[in-house]
Amino acid sequence: PLANLLDPSLLKTDALIGAGWVKGSARFDVTDPATGLKLVDVADLGVAETRDAIAAAQAALPAWRGRTAKDRGAILTKWFQLMVQHADDLARIMTAEQGKPLAESKGEVVYGASFIEWFAEEGKRVYGETIPATDPRKRYLVIKQAMGVCAAITPWNFPIAMITRKVGPALAAGCPVVVKPAGQTPLSALAIAELGRRAGLPDGVLNVVTAAKSAEIGKVMCESEVVRHLSFTGSTEVGRILAAQCAPTIKKLSLELGGNAPFIVFDDADLDSAVEGALASKYRNGGQTCVCANRLYVQDGVYDTFVQKLAAKVQAIKVGNGFEAGVTQGPMIDDNAIAKIERHVADAVSKGAKVLTGGKRLHDRFFEPTVLTEANADMLCAREETFGPVAPVFRFQTEEEVLRLANDTEFGLAAYFYSRDIGRVFRVGEGLESGMVGVNTGLISTAEVPFGGVKQSGLGREGSRHGIEDYVEIKYLCLGDI
Ligand code: ADP
Repeated sequence: PLANLLDPSLLKTDALIGAGWVKGSARFDVTDPATGLKLVDVADLGVAETRDAIAAAQAALPAWRGRTAKDRGAILTKWFQLMVQHADDLARIMTAEQGKPLAESKGEVVYGASFIEWFAEEGKRVYGETIPATDPRKRYLVIKQAMGVCAAITPWNFPIAMITRKVGPALAAGCPVVVKPAGQTPLSALAIAELGRRAGLPDGVLNVVTAAKSAEIGKVMCESEVVRHLSFTGSTEVGRILAAQCAPTIKKLSLELGGNAPFIVFDDADLDSAVEGALASKYRNGGQTCVCANRLYVQDGVYDTFVQKLAAKVQAIKVGNGFEAGVTQGPMIDDNAIAKIERHVADAVSKGAKVLTGGKRLHDRFFEPTVLTEANADMLCAREETFGPVAPVFRFQTEEEVLRLANDTEFGLAAYFYSRDIGRVFRVGEGLESGMVGVNTGLISTAEVPFGGVKQSGLGREGSRHGIEDYVEIKYLCLGDI
């Protein structure tokens, strides 16, 4: 699948540390989840190289922080343009290692690049303050400065966008970064790093440490006194480990963790629109996104009609290799992912759920798009993220009941609901315990808005004008003797 890139030099298999590409003393295989076949091998780095990358970032810090935001923004803008220009190759690389349909990969490249564009601009707007002094002989000023070296650990489900929305604000603010991409998807990370170099990012400003195993690299990043900020997107379980490891150095943390998104359809909803929203929210990327609807709650009066309409659309999803024309759902990322989905379906069925459509593995890592009806709160799928193309549909009677059910989780990333009643829109929108709420839409993410969760779904916000705040320190200057 990687044989016919328009620019074959985007296929990098060595890690990027400081001034150059590093082969490493060991290599690991990157495989195509659609076929299970090896694509290439990539540098498998460890503790020593992670320390080298942090040192390279530290060496790059004074000059990078010392440039004007406009200068940095110009390089980032060039980087954004190169990503868009090479979108076809980046999409091919992504589909090869991640599996998502080519059109979705292309969409992610554009979405991912948009964070670089956005923060290239936002970097110029990191404003300070002057505060009216209570002492006539003093003046109070507030300035914002780059935090220092940052580290980022990213997942496989969005191999480019999860990097750019961390690296974009960090670089725009003046912070060099060390990125550790997911072991399943290092090629997308290395390809955009190559474009970053072509755009003019100086040596050491962006470093990419690739590895099959991440725990020891994570530990070096967390324990480093040079690294001032760690940004992580992944599971809540790993987020907790990283937070604990960062405690001794009092590191600033941005965490974007697991979700358990409710998707609520009230009696007064536009049902066709709700079905379209559910399809987009639940089945995009094969259900492998942290904002995917995990629990569908449908009010009793429209339940049967909704599930029939949803099943009809779900049956039209075309499962296959992401490179094949017309395919709208690719493979799951690995065998563990498939095993978890199978476990959730079996558990739900054993507790009374009915399989309306789908329900089983087709072959290898391909799973049928599935709708389960009569789901209940005792099922695993009500408590944990399934991360697959399975929609359990729960029946509810009242607004009060569904708010209680929707909020009955330690997670609070995204939530969705469909209603045309303006009073209900405000009540439910305000009542849902989540960082983001889609009202009459299943797609909410874009570079201009704050993405992030409450409760155990995370800390901080990515994107929007707030996204750069995690990468700057507030400094107060008190001027006396005036
Ligand atoms: P996912 O289910 O998306 O794989 P993980 O939280 O396991 O979620 O992984 C997200 C990222 O965190 C990946 O880059 C992975 O390699 C990395 N990771 C996993 N475990 C650790 C750890 N103990 N320390 C540091 N990074 C880790």
